[in-house]
Amino acid sequence: MLKIVVIGGGPAGMMAAIAAAAHKEHQVILLERNEKLGKKLFITGKGRCNVTNNKDIGEFFENIPRNREFLYSALYSFTNEQLMAFFRERGLELKVERGDRVFPASDKAFDVTDVLKEELLRRHVEIHYRTLVTDLLLEGRKIKGLVTNEGQIRGDWFIFAGGGASYSGTGSDGTLHRLAKRAGHRIIDMKPSLIPLVATDSFPKELQGLSLKNIRFTLVEKGKTKFSDVGEMLFTHFGVSGPLVLSASAYYQGGNATGIIDLKPGLQEQELDLRLQKDFLKFQNKDFQNSLHELLPSKLIPVIVRLSGIAPDKKCNSISKGERQQLVKLLKGLEVHITGAKSLNEAIITRGGVDIKEIDPSTMKSKLVDNLSFAGEMIDVDAVTGGFNLQIAFSTGYLAGGSL
Ligand SMILES: Cc1cc2nc3c(=O)[nH]c(=O)nc-3n(C[C@H](O)[C@H](O)[C@H](O)COP(=O)(O)OP(=O)(O)OC[C@H]3O[C@@H](n4cnc5c(N)ncnc54)[C@H](O)[C@@H]3O)c2cc1C
Repeated sequence: MLKIVVIGGGPAGMMAAIAAAAHKEHQVILLERNEKLGKKLFITGKGRCNVTNNKDIGEFFENIPRNREFLYSALYSFTNEQLMAFFRERGLELKVERGDRVFPASDKAFDVTDVLKEELLRRHVEIHYRTLVTDLLLEGRKIKGLVTNEGQIRGDWFIFAGGGASYSGTGSDGTLHRLAKRAGHRIIDMKPSLIPLVATDSFPKELQGLSLKNIRFTLVEKGKTKFSDVGEMLFTHFGVSGPLVLSASAYYQGGNATGIIDLKPGLQEQELDLRLQKDFLKFQNKDFQNSLHELLPSKLIPVIVRLSGIAPDKKCNSISKGERQQLVKLLKGLEVHITGAKSLNEAIITRGGVDIKEIDPSTMKSKLVDNLSFAGEMIDVDAVTGGFNLQIAFSTGYLAGGSL
């Protein structure tokens, strides 16, 4: 019998405790600094919780920009299919939306936490709320116990599942990274990922609140295309955001970069030129500025007119071929000049964390400390948006707890 202490009551820690408690001989204790479990889980997917993704598990790896090999064992030992079955068997109906994103049918994130909490209680996991772990009692290569605001807690095995270092109000503030470092682990620099990008151009501010669907967003950094996909984006007062931009940020290294927005990805340049010729013929006696309403959202028109260099009051029938072709180029490649990302605390996910080289990928056990495992976002792994990050938290948690 082992006395297992899991630190962190997020998805990774809850699943680790559930998996550890499946071995009935173990005593499992879950420590959470907050007054409730899953505070971050509660705000995921705008409160609806995009709990996983329905893509074939093989395809999952394409959505993990860094250290994906490290996750093979975890994602294959507890797949998205198994996670969905876990929830369905416990009465939580799920639905699949655009991009294979899986949500609870109720659209309520707390229904996900409720299922996990019920399972923890059913498996007799002792949950200690308002218990903040502040230090470790180390002896050689072993952790003897933990120092908490509620006193010392001894144990045979410890699972660190303290999350990343963003949205610190939810409890994940990097405290456990500091303790992992004290135990000898290397922490890879923590940076924001899945984060809005800041631009120098003035037009994003002008367009703030405008969401564009079915556009292509390409991120080019140091002359290399880092990301390119079709979907939805949003202009903000500081730059660009929305699902496509957040995903692009997972590939962004920082510093100067260019975001290229193809406003008409479904049309080749020649096809778009033909479309413009038709529109200019239809509106031949109108001003250029009044001819684009069938092609673009109204808020975008003044910006495109200005950037096109064509006089707003020029009659459509006098727009030259050269001017039209320049307009085509602009519509297929509106450039946003990116200078940085928003702060780590505003990131959906933290890039960096406990160095994967020091963790056994087949068990999640530390290679440096004899009785320590890791799970979830605190490890140096992260994915794009779409439910992949929660699946990583659940799978690594399941493997960490199940391997004891
Ligand atoms: C706004 C937002 C929306 C998101 N939406 C989605 C989504 O829809 N789909 C998706 O896949 N991912 C989403 N994510 C990412 C997802 O929430 C995380 O990947 C996931 O929560 C990580 O789980 P975790 O258990 O590793 O960490 P966390 O959920 O952060 O849990 C860590 C827990 O550890 C506790 N803790 C930390 N330190 C200590 C300590 N010293 N002592 C005691 N307790 C401690 C914390 O209080 C916390 O409860 C979103 C993130 C954000 C911020």
